[in-house]
Amino acid sequence: MGGDVTAHLHPLLTRLGERAPWALSLHDAPCCRRARAWYLQRARAAPSTDALVSWVHERWTWGPHPWPLHWCDVPRAPHLDCEAASHVVVEALRDRGVHAEVLQVIERFDASAVTHWRAAWVGAGVPCDWIAGDLVYHAAVAAFEGGAWRGWDPSDGCVLDDKPVRGYDSVVAVRVAGEARGSWALGEALQEVLRGLAAPG
Ligand SMILES: [Zn+2]
Repeated sequence: MGGDVTAHLHPLLTRLGERAPWALSLHDAPCCRRARAWYLQRARAAPSTDALVSWVHERWTWGPHPWPLHWCDVPRAPHLDCEAASHVVVEALRDRGVHAEVLQVIERFDASAVTHWRAAWVGAGVPCDWIAGDLVYHAAVAAFEGGAWRGWDPSDGCVLDDKPVRGYDSVVAVRVAGEARGSWALGEALQEVLRGLAAPG
């Protein structure tokens, strides 16, 4: 790993601490119940996890929005950030009986990418504490299908397993939200983390 990773990784992990990913909130009212039901009905039309991830990626392009976000905000939201997109994909997978969890990931990019994203988040008035040097905090999805866990990136509309092993867009740290919170697997560890997840009982 390069100098930037060692310089920025541990401060970023420390800052994240045991922070859980944001999840969508439900008003105790018909607005959110109707919006969630609308979403799940649309999601059920996707014939596969691949199609579901592609639909969410195309319907809500990745971008900034304030939190908390409620289900009734979703139908008219132009963007979902990575935690919101991962949350709705996990909800749709669980709705169809698939075991799924949000993955918290640190990825490496470069100065020009992070400068562009920082400007977008600052311009939208949304905190930008997920960037540290050329590293970014990101949320994705782990789904247990066909006897194995697989990683999905709804913000990118792709399979997380296909990310490069090093350099631009590579995964440098990963943990499973809710399960092993607080313990990050470092390095080229995505496959190890996915293999180490217990099969659902
Ligand atoms: Zn609502």
